Amino acid sequence: MKRLQSISKAYEYNKDRHTAYMHSARADELDVQWYQSPQWRRLSSQIHVIDLYTCRICGHVQLPNETMVTDHIIPRRTAPELAMTASNLWLLDRTCHNKKTAIERKRTPEQLKIMTRDEWIRLLE
Ligand SMILES: [Zn+2]
Repeated sequence: MKRLQSISKAYEYNKDRHTAYMHSARADELDVQWYQSPQWRRLSSQIHVIDLYTCRICGHVQLPNETMVTDHIIPRRTAPELAMTASNLWLLDRTCHNKKTAIERKRTPEQLKIMTRDEWIRLLE
């Protein structure tokens, strides 16, 4: 029982740390750097082509002067090991991406790790 309590305490601690990190200025700064890497830019433009410049949730097609987002289905900070994995990436327009991000903020890493494409589509469509 004692052991269980200590595991659950550690879990709570890590969850709080995760949440705090998700909202820190340092994390934002590192994000900017990460998204500027040549490897990411190349992969992101491949995803634009694979997804035909179309939002995978609502079907909106990218317009001139509009930017779309290559989104991590399981967020990068939740699953860094999938950050450059094409099967964890899809193209979203800004509206759908903002909605997805708002939902992600209310979920735990454990909940986010089991979310699939289909579940996101069902939630956001
Ligand atoms: Zn959309």
